[in-house]
Amino acid sequence: MNLFFIFGAVVFSVIVFGFVLVKRTNKQLEKLRYENARSLKLLSQKENKLISLNLALKERNKESDEVAKTLVRRDLELTETNERLRELDSIKSEFVSVAAHQLRTPLTGIKWTLNALLNEEVGTLDEDQKKFVADGLVSTYRLIELINDLLDTARLEEGKFGFIFKIQALTPILKQTVKNYELMAKEKGIEFMLQLPEADLPFLRLDIEKIGIVLDNLIDNAIKYTIPGGKVTMRAFIDKKYLIIEIRDTGIGIPKAQFHRMFTKFFRAANAQLAETSGTGLGLYVSYNIVKRHKGTLSFESREGEGSTFILSLPLLEKAK
Ligand code: ADP
Repeated sequence: MNLFFIFGAVVFSVIVFGFVLVKRTNKQLEKLRYENARSLKLLSQKENKLISLNLALKERNKESDEVAKTLVRRDLELTETNERLRELDSIKSEFVSVAAHQLRTPLTGIKWTLNALLNEEVGTLDEDQKKFVADGLVSTYRLIELINDLLDTARLEEGKFGFIFKIQALTPILKQTVKNYELMAKEKGIEFMLQLPEADLPFLRLDIEKIGIVLDNLIDNAIKYTIPGGKVTMRAFIDKKYLIIEIRDTGIGIPKAQFHRMFTKFFRAANAQLAETSGTGLGLYVSYNIVKRHKGTLSFESREGEGSTFILSLPLLEKAK
């Protein structure tokens, strides 16, 4: 009986324990199922997000492709426009060059005739007639100057300036330029001086004719923009690896606000126009480009109303440095 009771109690305990175990396992299984379902939901949400991101990326890629295509098209258009502009520029330069050349010949004839008249080679003139012819001659010289500047500019831009470089001395052209402008300075009442160092200046690699154009422009300007009683000095000296030519004047100077435009084509400062001087605004542009071809520099310092100094520097030869 006792044994039977014990056996019964054990069976009962096992049943109860089994029941509890099954219930607990069920509960855990349910929890796992629930977590699984949640993870699945999260996963599907993430997947949806990824799909929409992918779609957006594809859209962006498409847009980028469009932009890239547009850029390539624009680049092509710009290249074509550039080409066309270059062609037009070259046609323009050629036209200016031909027109200026055709104008120069008859003008030289007019200059010659007026000079002959003024020198009374074809008969005497009274004072009024002389003044008349002299005025005509001044205008003819101005026109020739304008045509020469236009020709130089056109040739420079067409690459037909024909530079011929040789190793040579600079001093003769400095002296010659001073000689050419001595009379002009004297007639205007301007003191004009050349200061050279005692030792000979070294030889340089130059196109002497083109450097002559630069010196003419700088000295012509210095005298032109200096009022009577003023002073123009040209000085040459060596500084480190360069030969410097400085042209200093006590003239009208240059307004600071216009410094940056000095070497641009056709530019004339306001005070130069007010002073009623004649000019084309091409001389400095041509000079700047000539000096650049010599691997030198052209710069200036100036104060309006006090004067200007133009500084031309040309590189010394390697062995002389
Ligand atoms: P331009 O034929 O008018 O003299 P440039 O190209 O030689 O042409 O000079 C451009 C301008 O620079 C001049 O119109 C003038 O305003 C100014 N300039 C040049 N040199 C001087 C100078 N020595 N003093 C004052 N202004 C100057």
